[in-house]
Amino acid sequence: MGGRGVASTGSMSAQDCLFCKMTKGEIPAEVVHDDGEVFAFKDIHPAAPTHLLVIPYKHVETLLEFERDDEALIGRMVTVATKLAREAGIGESGYRLVANCNRDGGQSVYHVHFHVLGGRRFGWPPD
Ligand code: AMP
Ligand code: ZN
Repeated sequence: MGGRGVASTGSMSAQDCLFCKMTKGEIPAEVVHDDGEVFAFKDIHPAAPTHLLVIPYKHVETLLEFERDDEALIGRMVTVATKLAREAGIGESGYRLVANCNRDGGQSVYHVHFHVLGGRRFGWPPD
């Protein structure tokens, strides 16, 4: 159920997408979860001792492209992130679940993803 062929409104097609290629095994990933719907792996440039990315198989470019029909998928992404935070031992100490959207949000990969960050103390508000 890869993103290939899924309608896309933005600049990058599913075929060219880095994260779609990771779900298809075309680019290596340190996979920590894969249920065929939601996929998670270690961030290649970790910003904290634990830094995971949780993505849908479905090629959705930004939070703005999520649709009503995606609500179960979004919920699944959150529960997978919660499971992974627990498994990483950062549930009790605390963690951040972050989705950056477009330029001002700091998004660099246009396949929607949640960052799971933990293992150190973060400031608030963000820079
Ligand atoms: P964002 O800037 O919110 O779009 O997050 C994209 C994240 O993807 C960054 O934290 C990158 O370090 C991470 N990233 C980019 N390429 C890879 C890759 N090949 N494997 C794992 N993580 C990656
Ligand atoms: Zn994609």
